[in-house]
Amino acid sequence: MRIILLGPPGAGKGTQAKVLAKRLTLPHISTGDILRQNVSGNTTLGIKAKDFMNKGALVPDELVTQMLIERIDQPDTEKGFILDGYPRTLKQAEDLDNILKGRNAAIDFAVYLDTSGPVIIQRLSGRRVCSKCGLNFHIKNMPPKVDMLCDNCGGPLYQRGDDKEETIKKRVAVYKQESASLIEHYRDKQKLKCLNADGDAEGVLNKIILMAKEIDGSLKV
Ligand code: AMP
Repeated sequence: MRIILLGPPGAGKGTQAKVLAKRLTLPHISTGDILRQNVSGNTTLGIKAKDFMNKGALVPDELVTQMLIERIDQPDTEKGFILDGYPRTLKQAEDLDNILKGRNAAIDFAVYLDTSGPVIIQRLSGRRVCSKCGLNFHIKNMPPKVDMLCDNCGGPLYQRGDDKEETIKKRVAVYKQESASLIEHYRDKQKLKCLNADGDAEGVLNKIILMAKEIDGSLKV
């Protein structure tokens, strides 16, 4: 099963993708996470990507797509994957179709997590991330048990550099510019499913699982 999570920053793609991946025993592929690992590891890719990310701009398609191909070609993706943060442009969506076609595979469906402006700002400005295991928290909606420490591994929490209000606005604007053509791409292929994602995470997750089951009735979750 190959699922894409689409939606603006703050729609909950990362949160949903992590849980969904566990429930479906599939790898969670987040291009944002892979890029951040490259930035903190000071790799050639990380050095090239860093300035785009800090500004809230998109990293050039060819860099991200090459990185995605390397990840998709790992053996753990044989049964599928949950894709979070890719594609973000029509070019990336077309490239992804071709990459998968070349591997006799295709996307099963893309879920669009529709989220309103105030909810996006509220979620992202309060988001804190574990620097060790990557788990997400929220200062109001999901605070850690011990201030600024991860419940899962005890690692220190931090605020992503691009989760500051000005950068959030820029990221949302970039998203809006690209999203209409992306959504149309999957609608045209009859692979698009839409969900209102302003509500609680568990309700959204259950709806995505139902969508997956509609496609594959034998799915064990
Ligand atoms: P995310 O964690 O998905 O919010 O991504 C964080 C940042 O990484 C984005 O604001 C972009 O700068 C960059 N990024 C992640 N995925 C992509 C992508 N598919 N195409 C271009 N840039 C990306």
